[in-house]
Amino acid sequence: MRPTGKLHLGHLLGVLENWKRLQKEYECFYFVADWHALTTKFDEKIDLKKNSVELIKDWIACGIDPQKSNLYIQSEIKEHAELYLILNMITPVSWLERNPTYKDALLQEEYKKKNNAGFLTYPVLQTADIILYDASFVPIGEDQRPHLELAREIVRHFHYLYKTEIFIEPKELLTQNARLPGLDGRKMSKSYRNAIYLDESSENIWNKIRMAKTDPARIKKTDPGNPDICVVFEYHKAFSPEEEVKEIEKACKNGTIGCVECKKRCAVNIDKIISPIREKKASLKDSDILDIINEGNEKAKKIAADKMQKVNKIIF
Ligand code: SF4
Repeated sequence: MRPTGKLHLGHLLGVLENWKRLQKEYECFYFVADWHALTTKFDEKIDLKKNSVELIKDWIACGIDPQKSNLYIQSEIKEHAELYLILNMITPVSWLERNPTYKDALLQEEYKKKNNAGFLTYPVLQTADIILYDASFVPIGEDQRPHLELAREIVRHFHYLYKTEIFIEPKELLTQNARLPGLDGRKMSKSYRNAIYLDESSENIWNKIRMAKTDPARIKKTDPGNPDICVVFEYHKAFSPEEEVKEIEKACKNGTIGCVECKKRCAVNIDKIISPIREKKASLKDSDILDIINEGNEKAKKIAADKMQKVNKIIF
């Protein structure tokens, strides 16, 4: 995960809930991708160090357990860069140019101005991130499939060129991308200013939910509504008890609940999810997080250094 800012409910639902499930079944490696942050944000003033600590605090507050999972910072393990360099040597540019994310970016004015090599080659860095640790599986959403396929292709190419099978071809662990809309109905995102953050106060949660987009056709409480086009109902489905969701759906359709009451109940249920995260995060000391990071870095470094030694032996 890139340390580009505060986490919101979309991250909780779309990523962290999945990470929590995975750590029960697998030995997981979760890292702060600070070098990846530079692929698009190299010209912005972001405090990557501070953000990285905050990010790991958020993970732990959400239930990622450093005793079960390896948590570390990408740029602290220089072997990521070393392997990235070597893989860049063997990867044809045409493979990178067909990456759909790259092709989409080329259509955007903001990216066209930057057009940096790091953005073109970030899937190679991702490949290094994965294969350095002999990862068998990578949890991905549908949109990341081309990246993983490219990683598999690079691994096969390396094996073909150097006549040795040193890496594991990573497989996908396809996860349903639970997409949560932002308050205005677009994707929840910091840049759209439509997010509810994981450290939001109870008051802020209500103030934000108050402004959320609902069925515009509903003017009076007695107007029958359509919850399927209402952002608040999406939040109810994600965070309210099942019985309450059914009750609200019926009441909205029958025009027996007002949007203000519905939003109040939604804010209360979201607060029940956020307040333990907020409290846990507030209780975490920076010094303890730094200890966790140092320990995670050390473990990761050992594995990565061992792998790079083997890679270098093959090449040189
Ligand atoms: Fe949305 Fe609730 Fe209003 Fe229905 S009653 S439109 S679900 S806010």
